Formats: sequence, C-alpha cells, structure tokens
Amino acid sequence: MAINKETIQRLVAVQQQDAVLDGLQKEIDRIPREIAALQAGLESAKARVAEAKAKTMGFEKKKKEKELELASKEEAIRKHTMELNQVKTNDAFKALQHQIDEAKAAGSQIETEILETMEGIDRGRQEEKAAAAELKAAEDKAKGEISVLEKQLAEVKAKFDGQKEVRDEAASVVPSDMLRIYDHARKRGKPDAIVPVDGGNCSACRINLAPQMIVEVTKAKALVVCESCQRILYKPEPAAKAA
Ligand SMILES: [Zn+2]
Repeated sequence: MAINKETIQRLVAVQQQDAVLDGLQKEIDRIPREIAALQAGLESAKARVAEAKAKTMGFEKKKKEKELELASKEEAIRKHTMELNQVKTNDAFKALQHQIDEAKAAGSQIETEILETMEGIDRGRQEEKAAAAELKAAEDKAKGEISVLEKQLAEVKAKFDGQKEVRDEAASVVPSDMLRIYDHARKRGKPDAIVPVDGGNCSACRINLAPQMIVEVTKAKALVVCESCQRILYKPEPAAKAA
C-alpha cells in the first residue's frame, strides 16, 4: 500500500480508535485495584476483631493464673493457721503469724489484680462486639460495591472487545510500514504516535522543523518522523482543523 494523504488520515483514525481503547484499558486496570482495596479494607476489619478477641483471651488467661495464685495463698493461710496450735515457742508463733499476715496481704493484692483482669475481659468483649459490628457493616457495604464494580468491569471488557474489532478493521487498511513505526512509538510511551505539524513546529515536542520537512509532510508521499520525538508528522486537513 502506498503512502498518501488518505492512508495518513486512516492512521490518524486508527490513533483515535486507540485513544478510546487506552481509556477503556485504564478502566480495566483500575476496577480490579478498587476491588482489591475494598477487600483489603475487609481484611483489616477482620484483623481488628481478631485483635480484640486475643485481648480478651489474654485477660482470661491472666485471671486463671491469678485465681490459682490466690488459691495457693489461701491454702498457705489455712495450713499456717492450723500450725499455730502446735507451736511450742513464742518466737515460732510470731514467725508463723508473720507468714500468715504476709499471705493475707499477698492474697488481697491478687484479688485486686483479679478484679483488674475482669475489667479487662469486659473491655475486650465490648471491643470485640464493636469490631464485629464494624466488620458486618463493612462487609455489607463492600459486597454491594464489589458487585457493582464487577458488573462495570464486565461491561468495560465487552466494550473493549467491540472497540478492538473496530480498531483492527481500521488498521487493516493502513500500510504495514506505517503501522510498524506508529506501534513502535506507542510502545515507547507515546500514545500520540502521529501528530499534526503546527505551523513550523512538531505539535508534540514543539521543535522547529526544517522547511524541507514541512514540504515533505505536506506532500505526504512518504512518512516523515520528527527527529526530536520520533512521532510521525502529518499536515492537518483544513476541514479537520476546523472540526
Ligand atoms: Zn516532535
């Protein structure tokens, strides 16, 4: 296929189709990220429930330990109280009484600690309840949002496939040499691979073009590529410029 004004206009049309595809592709990339963010939010809400549960369990464990400690102090008090009846000397009596007093003081301290663990258990259970309610609300909300996003994604994908067919058909009537250069520029991060000259400049990178280049672009008998940005240059049709 020869290069002429018409084939160049066809390539410009392909680029317009590609711009639509690029926009759809962005949506196709964005929607799964949004879904993943919603799912991550749910995971952190789940983690908060587990954290509150672990806190409660920690206090429960501590309470059991303290209860065992208290029982052993009570046992010591009971034992020493019985021994009081069997001692022969005043010093031994005093020593035992001292041990009993110490055990009682320790027992009283442990009872305070048990009360504290009970308060901790209450707080932990309240946190669990609040976290579970938050999780439930987050799940309900995310479920709805995810299903909307999934529907959107399916629609955008279908639109993309339809648009891709239109684009490929438009590309099939563009000379393959032109397409190759065009695709090369696009792959290098230049979605506007074919750009109009703007007066004496490349409209993309604004470099001043040599007059001979402008002449060749106007003739449109061969592809002219901007030496600075490697985009294909074309002369906009007056009608297209007005549109
Ligand atoms: Zn340029």
